[in-house]
Amino acid sequence: MRFVHDTLPQRVYFGSGQAAANLGDAIAGLRASRVMLIASPVAMHLADEIAADVPVALRHEEVVMHVPVEVAERGRDAAARSDVDALVSVGGGSTTGLAKAIALTTGLPIVAVPTTYAGSEATPVWGLTEGARKTTGVDLAVLPKVIVYDAALTTSLPVELSVASGLNALAHCVDAMWGPAADPVNAALAAEGIRSLAAGLPKVAADPAGLDGREHALYAAYLAAVAFASAGSALHHKICHVLGGKYNLPHAQTHATVLPYVLAFNGPAAPEAERRIAAAFGSPTALDGLQSLRRELRAPLALRDYGFAEDSIAEAADAILPSVPPSNPRPVTADDLRALLRAAWSGSDPDQAFS
Ligand code: NAD
Repeated sequence: MRFVHDTLPQRVYFGSGQAAANLGDAIAGLRASRVMLIASPVAMHLADEIAADVPVALRHEEVVMHVPVEVAERGRDAAARSDVDALVSVGGGSTTGLAKAIALTTGLPIVAVPTTYAGSEATPVWGLTEGARKTTGVDLAVLPKVIVYDAALTTSLPVELSVASGLNALAHCVDAMWGPAADPVNAALAAEGIRSLAAGLPKVAADPAGLDGREHALYAAYLAAVAFASAGSALHHKICHVLGGKYNLPHAQTHATVLPYVLAFNGPAAPEAERRIAAAFGSPTALDGLQSLRRELRAPLALRDYGFAEDSIAEAADAILPSVPPSNPRPVTADDLRALLRAAWSGSDPDQAFS
């Protein structure tokens, strides 16, 4: 066994009902005295509750998915005008993403309080969009210094979105198995993430207000993001990046829909990943495990249901092809991508997509 593995410096608090206390502790630890509280208008009341004992100098509500550059600029200006010394984000990946965009140019420390399973809080990856073009980059300045996980904050996430977001986390785990810098540490974290999602998500769907399923899913979302951040973006994420940026498809649902097709394509060429994923699901094959979980959760089925047009398939395949990592377990051609996208567009059986 031979590998090089970087671990990222973060403090992680995990405790249901503990967000306010843990956030106070985190802000005291950073010695921050002028906090910028970032949350969307619907989440701001929650953010205010959690931050009741925190020295908030500015409340900022302009949160937009995929962080348009002009939204980032307005956030940066607001931070500078109020002379803030720390950023607290309360929300999903879009809210964390805005905090990251501000940290990218200001170097301000972030305390992230996530309310979905997107996992952005545990990665040094930032994303900005200009028109229809999404740019991403890696910079340690955007890695939140502290994460405050509180499963009670996720009980309001509707079941459909919880399922899609949970499958977004599952996609981090699966892609981490064969990412460009995949290693045994990532694989161990990803396998535990899959096991915990498979245990937790059915409970979330059956009892959205219950904390047990929510805690399993949130814990898994963290492991998934850590594994993914280390292994690097692989085929699945390259595909979803183009679909999200170019066609403005919803992030979590796109990941949830595309994943079985990538697994069907790569799995046979990656026996170790296939074995680990199957074992984590406790199923005969990786795809069996994923598909039976997806059936149980009534997961999103087809890209056409989320606004992806059939006549965009060829263009999307051409846009994805140059970004496919050379380390992918099997070579990928434009024809392969067209077949994959066509199957995901229609929601056909992934087992039959490449035969
Ligand atoms: P999101 O943050 O846009 O949230 C989706 C919807 O859920 C929104 O309408 C939001 O208001 C609502 N919501 C969030 N939490 C809720 C709660 N607890 N209760 C009720 N409603 C709630 O979506 P997301 O899937 O969390 O994040 C997607 C974004 O994050 C994308 O832009 C994606 O590119 C980015 N992302 C980045 C990384 C990274 O490493 N940089 C990783 C994952 C995702």
